[in-house]
Formats: sequence, C-alpha cells, structure tokens
Amino acid sequence: MLDPFGRKVSYLRVSVTDRCDFRCVYCMAEDMTFLPKAEVLSLEELDRVCSAFIRMGTTKLRLTGGEPLVRRNVMSLIRSLSRHLDSGALEELTLTTNGSQLAKYADELAKLGVRRLNVSLDTLDEGLFTELTRWGRLPQVLDGIFAAKAAGLAVKINAVALKGVNDREFDRMLAWCGEHGFDMTIIEVMPMGDIGEQRVDQYLPLSIVRADLAKRWTLTESDYRTGGPARYVRVEETGQRLGFITPLTHNFCESCNRVRLTCTGQLYMCLGQEDNADLRAAVRASEGDGPLDAAILEAIGRKPKGHDFVIDRRTNAPAVPRHMSVTGG
Ligand code: SAM
Ligand code: SF4
Repeated sequence: MLDPFGRKVSYLRVSVTDRCDFRCVYCMAEDMTFLPKAEVLSLEELDRVCSAFIRMGTTKLRLTGGEPLVRRNVMSLIRSLSRHLDSGALEELTLTTNGSQLAKYADELAKLGVRRLNVSLDTLDEGLFTELTRWGRLPQVLDGIFAAKAAGLAVKINAVALKGVNDREFDRMLAWCGEHGFDMTIIEVMPMGDIGEQRVDQYLPLSIVRADLAKRWTLTESDYRTGGPARYVRVEETGQRLGFITPLTHNFCESCNRVRLTCTGQLYMCLGQEDNADLRAAVRASEGDGPLDAAILEAIGRKPKGHDFVIDRRTNAPAVPRHMSVTGG
C-alpha cells in the first residue's frame, strides 16, 4: 500500500474502544459521554478490518483506545489476531495501555506473541498521578508494569510533558526507567478535543525539556527508529533510550507510515486532519471483503501530506475536535 507521496503504509493503529477507566486531564473531560455500543465495531468486525490491512501489507498493528484492556473480551480479539503473527504476515502486535489491567493480562499477552508494550505514565508521584488521571491509582499501574516486565515484555514508558506539572519529574523518571530497563518517550501535548482547559497553559516544547535534561544527563544522538515518529537519544548514564515525540515543533510527516482506525471504523489517514473513510459502512455492507478492501485502498490513495496542528494564544480551539481517546494515541 503506497500513498500518493510514495510512503509505504505498513502500520495500523486501532482504537478498540473510546472508553477508559481513567480520565487524564489532557485527554478527556471528566464527564465524558461515550459512544453507544451499536456504533462501535464488534470484535469480529475489528478482526475483519485488521485482517484486511494485514492481507494488503500491514506488518505492524497497535491496539489502543481509550483503554484497550477495558474492552470486554479484548483478549479474544488479541488471540484471534495473533494468528497473523504465527503465519508471519504480521511482524508485530503491540498495545498502548495505561497499565491498570496489566497485572491481569501480561502473561497472556506474552503467550500470544506480544513482545513490547507502551505504558503511559506521566509521573511517579502518587498524588500527582491521581490529579492527572483523576481516577487512576499509581500502585495498580506499577504492579501492572512489573507484571509485564516479569512476563518478559519490553516496556516503554510514555509521558506527556505538561508545563509546570510534571516537567520537574523527568530526572526521577529517567533514573527509575534506567533502574528497571525501560525505554522512555516524552510526548508533546497535542491540541485534540475540548477538555475544558486552555491548551496554551499545558504546552511545553520538548526542545526546552531536552536542553534541560542535557545539563544533567549525557544524551547521545541515536539513529534508532521504531517505525514511529519519535527521535531517540541514548542516556549514557543508564544505557536506556529516551525518545521525543514533537508533533508541534518538528514536522515528522515526511516519513509517516501509519493510518488510524477509530473504534467506530473511521479510518483517519492523518492524526491532525479531519478527512476519514467510513470502513464500518464497508464492513457492514457485505460479508465478503471486496467492498472493505476497495474502501481501504481508496482511503490510502488520499492520505494527506501532513498535519496542521497549531497551539498559540490566537488558536485556542482544538485543532482537531475529536479527543485522542477516539482516534487512539
Ligand atoms: N489509554 C491508553 C494509554 O493511556 O496509554 C491508550 C490510549 S491514550 C489516548 C494514548 C496516548 O495518548 C497516551 O500516552 C496519552 O498520554 C496520550 N495522549 C492523550 N491525549 C493527549 C494529548 N492531548 N496530547 C498528547 N498526548 C496525548
Ligand atoms: Fe484513558 Fe489513556 Fe486517555 Fe488517560 S490517556 S484518559 S488512560 S485513554
């Protein structure tokens, strides 16, 4: 699958639910209204869409949400998708999770062929963790992270940088990640969805974070890439990698290899653009996969060149009205 700019689309991210057991302040409003069940793709429909992508050359699949591990019976979807790992068609099946359910599922995920996980963790301070996630409990997440490590899964910690909130924490988190053998990625907050706060108050350019960390840590440039937009450095003191995802300060669109499927079956060809294709209509139109395959190819044919995110004082409305939990981070 090649897009109009010659980029190979080999990576599909799938939001398997818009629901979550947390209410992170930068991601959701506290009183979120979730989608009615009929609008959300069933597990069988998700499997059909993912399998169509794999048949057409997708080699990497990431399940996200919302919180993927709170979707009822999500393990049956993962079990079913793991057949593509067994056949070799799929190179990697992975998840982005808040970690709350990992103590329960880590072993089974490892058995099904999942090799690495991204776990979102913005702070190691218990009080701040609850402030940021509103409903989360840090000890439960840490138990999950260590269960994943014990199961042999490689864990990467994702932290969103929030100005004046967790920016003083990165030293402690880097040291902790080093101690436990986790890579870490710091993410710039993105203007997605109305969350009832002004984005400009949260936004912290990672160029500043990096320059500050470089005063105390030896950060060596690395050309390591995971197929994602992160740029990595090696933290010499710990031997672990540190990634920076900078959608706002650095335009990474030229190497974009991914598309995103929402839990309602909308395929977004770019996280920062509204254009989407309705794969739910295609999947529900027929039991055969003809219309679905055609809809996917047509959509890839209109993948745009790049995004238009802006955060400044004049642009306070979210650049994209949908929440991250709908498209999947
Ligand atoms: N619930 C899972 C989790 O938290 O890892 C998966 C979904 S969550 C939407 C995926 C990632 O998006 C998380 O790392 C989260 O921190 C990040 N995220 C959510 N809202 C964001 C925003 N407005 N800007 C940047 N990252 C955001
Ligand atoms: Fe839930 Fe993840 Fe959004 Fe937090 S970032 S509210 S854990 S979906």
